Amino acid sequence: MQPKCPFCKSRNNKKLRQLTYNCVFFCHNCRLGFQYPLLKKNSIKKYYKESIYPQVWGDHTGSFGEMKKITYQWIFKHLGKGRGEKLLDIGTGYGFALLEAKRKGYQPVGIEPSPELSKIASKAHGVKVINDFFENVKFPIESFHLVSMFDSIEHMLNPQASLKKAAALVKPGGFLVITTPDINSLSAKLFYKYWFHLKNEHYYYFNKEILKNLLLKNGFTVKISMGQKRPLTLKYIENHFRIYPIPFLSITFRHLLSLVPTKIKNKIFTIYDGNLFMVAQKSVKIA
Ligand SMILES: [Zn+2]
Repeated sequence: MQPKCPFCKSRNNKKLRQLTYNCVFFCHNCRLGFQYPLLKKNSIKKYYKESIYPQVWGDHTGSFGEMKKITYQWIFKHLGKGRGEKLLDIGTGYGFALLEAKRKGYQPVGIEPSPELSKIASKAHGVKVINDFFENVKFPIESFHLVSMFDSIEHMLNPQASLKKAAALVKPGGFLVITTPDINSLSAKLFYKYWFHLKNEHYYYFNKEILKNLLLKNGFTVKISMGQKRPLTLKYIENHFRIYPIPFLSITFRHLLSLVPTKIKNKIFTIYDGNLFMVAQKSVKIA
């Protein structure tokens, strides 16, 4: 029997791809992508404790760092300047979002479950990073002007609960900002079961409609809903295919790239790669 969709409870779904530990399913009813069976909390904790991200992607310097900077410059161009407002970034990784937030005049703090990445982020960018899982961290409600989940909601075991908690931390009139792979995007349709966003550490694949409804339920109005423009290099794509191999594509791409000079491999270009960008505003309570 097909598993139940964790969001709409429908069994009308299909298996997209077998990953290392489990499968990705696609719900025909609400168009959510989900892993089944879901990993146990402990194995996820272990994954982040022993996270290989820094070994894989290197440190925060070089073209990887440059790409991250451009990513958040694009995002903050849409969010505008701050005047000392508090910003919370959930799943901050290398902390490049915090760096750009600080530059734009916000007062940022990040949460990151990987000890190694937390250290790199605070040391490299001089920003405050709490090394823990979001579910364990306590903040006073409505204490942030902006709460961001940049490529992190798809990593959460219970995204509905996490979104509810994040929403409660936003001040009335403040913003919740999300970027995440969009399973309804052109790239998802083109690559189908070989879509490059399908990974062991991504438990859910959203679309704009599902997120919009979740945000509405939590008292938000969507202000921006669009594809996210992201910088990439051929070198990054090559690395990505090495870490997350895709039959045929990885090998073909590697052969093609062996013909390309290093200078061109490191050149940054921007594309819509199937990530969505959503900005929602919390309603102001009328007394
Ligand atoms: Zn569903």
